[in-house]
Amino acid sequence: MAVLGRDGIIYYLNGGNDDELYSTADNLRQSSFGQEVYLRAIVEFSNVCNKKCNYCGLRAPNSKVSRYRMGIDEIIESACMAAEAGARTIVLQSGDDFSYSPAQIADIISRIKESHDVAVTLSLGDRSAAEYKQWFNCGADRCLLKLETTDADIYEKIRCGENFHERMELLRSLQEIGYEVGSGIIVGLPDYTVEQLADDLLFLSNLELDMIAAGPFIPHPDTPYSPAVTGDIDISFRFTALARLLNPFSNIPATSALDSFDSEGRKKGLQRGCNVIMPSVTPVGQRKDYNIYPGKNSVSVDVVDTISRAEELVRALDFIPSASKGSSRRMNNVQ
Ligand code: SF4
Repeated sequence: MAVLGRDGIIYYLNGGNDDELYSTADNLRQSSFGQEVYLRAIVEFSNVCNKKCNYCGLRAPNSKVSRYRMGIDEIIESACMAAEAGARTIVLQSGDDFSYSPAQIADIISRIKESHDVAVTLSLGDRSAAEYKQWFNCGADRCLLKLETTDADIYEKIRCGENFHERMELLRSLQEIGYEVGSGIIVGLPDYTVEQLADDLLFLSNLELDMIAAGPFIPHPDTPYSPAVTGDIDISFRFTALARLLNPFSNIPATSALDSFDSEGRKKGLQRGCNVIMPSVTPVGQRKDYNIYPGKNSVSVDVVDTISRAEELVRALDFIPSASKGSSRRMNNVQ
């Protein structure tokens, strides 16, 4: 295959040889992870957010969202139900909602870890490094902090004045604290080019991430980007396949956004280098309101059914839903 410098990446992003790209990514996934696919169960415990990201349906100025905040016991109960249904990783996710105190988040983490042998991932946005350190000491294992773009100017534009360098500083702090850290981008934001995506890919790969996530841009009708053109799902598949080539041991999810384009989207992702799926186990009553983009969380079955459907999807491809927590293999296999 073509050498994977910037020009080679652009060649494949442009669809230069999809068959070669996807089969190479699939082979690499196989040699790094065998047939195992990791399930990460997400509890989206609050859709309140103080930020104004132009692409996101949860942005603070969107008055059409039905906002919710789950109680502490309800969050723990959802996490425990997912663990009892077979999930080995619980992702605690919210908007940038600082109404939950550090002590309350610590309590949630401690009680989940005390009651079940699971990994806990935090996806809580721009909380301070000191808070993340406190939560690490309570047993949290991983953090997810998306960049959405690695271009500082575009970042400021799409996230409505937020500072890219501060986000990067936080990401570095999380790595220094000892978390497994994931990040990622949105593929096909307004005015984006494949050249920029190639730069994103190289930038993310240099960060030595334990997880890299990328999904196609889907314009939300209640955001400033509602008239924008939808991202190209094929470029999104190529991006994650290339991410696999550059990061053989990083966890790479087949995001739920893929299924919003194509009912087979996540399956195709798993056949093209991805090794993780992340079903929402948010209570059915709130799940549809975690509406970052149209079509997200459109499946409204209970936690047990959600996990079993995810496992069925994995088995249908002759993969195996992993019984392990799916801790980072990158750390054990860095060259
Ligand atoms: S992307 Fe995250 S921080 Fe930005 S508005 Fe949406 S939930 Fe809030």
